[in-house]
Amino acid sequence: MAKRLYFLKLGGSIITDTKKPNAAKVAAMKRMFKEIREARSKKDFDLIIGHGSGSFAHVPAHKYKIHLGLINKNSRRGASITQHAAARLNRIVVEQLIKSGINAVSFPPSEGAIADGRKIKSWNLLPLKQALKNGFVPVTYGDVVVDTRQGVSIASTEEVFSFIASKLHPQKIMLATDVDGVFDKNPKIYKDGSLIASINGENLKRFLLSAGRSQKTDVTGGMYGKLSLLHEAVKRSRATGYIINGTKKGNIRDLLLGRKTTCTKVLP
Ligand code: ADP
Repeated sequence: MAKRLYFLKLGGSIITDTKKPNAAKVAAMKRMFKEIREARSKKDFDLIIGHGSGSFAHVPAHKYKIHLGLINKNSRRGASITQHAAARLNRIVVEQLIKSGINAVSFPPSEGAIADGRKIKSWNLLPLKQALKNGFVPVTYGDVVVDTRQGVSIASTEEVFSFIASKLHPQKIMLATDVDGVFDKNPKIYKDGSLIASINGENLKRFLLSAGRSQKTDVTGGMYGKLSLLHEAVKRSRATGYIINGTKKGNIRDLLLGRKTTCTKVLP
């Protein structure tokens, strides 16, 4: 049997302080990476890690409206600044992963992916696949990519995962964020919402209506984008998707180990 393959995304909201530009939450990273290490010592699985950009790239991406493409004379400068900001956070993540004993290797989408109208259309994944085979943990992230329709665009980590999932067919795609999963109302605004245990192709539309934007400076973010792209990734790969709260101690470890965790499951 082929080795199990899991994708784990660490949301920008849990690895950065979204209220302060360029503020990495190193202590939180250390705690989560220890959990990943622990899970991998107990169970044999291949892992691809993705991470959001939080208060690093989302600030210039928002300022220069990079998701809209090359729209004015400042767009190229904005795209360069945004790509650099995403890479800076990636280096911090990779450094902390290595310090935590995880043999991480970075695969930036801006180096290889081409989008067409904000969807990744091509990316040679042979190096990433070989790195997996050779026992590394590939790390990718939400990034600026060249776009044949609009010059540049932002590929969110969910979009990147969706593309990779369609080629590599993971069994689980896990998104760790700062809420327990998808609620019937935004839990950061309403305290009386209920957590939705499971979302599939039949009830997806109804829940997308309640899945709003994040309160943070985030051009790709919020639960709406996350949920629709996770569902797309799940459909493309036949994986099971999970949205969990990565800020709660033990959650990431338990989900990786297949233990019961509070979450929203996303099915085809
Ligand atoms: P991350 O940076 O971790 O990827 P985001 O901040 O982009 O996460 O998205 C998570 C946020 O989505 C939550 O903090 C919450 O404010 C918001 N959100 C909006 N609607 C919902 C909903 N129905 N259920 C859960 N979260 C929601």
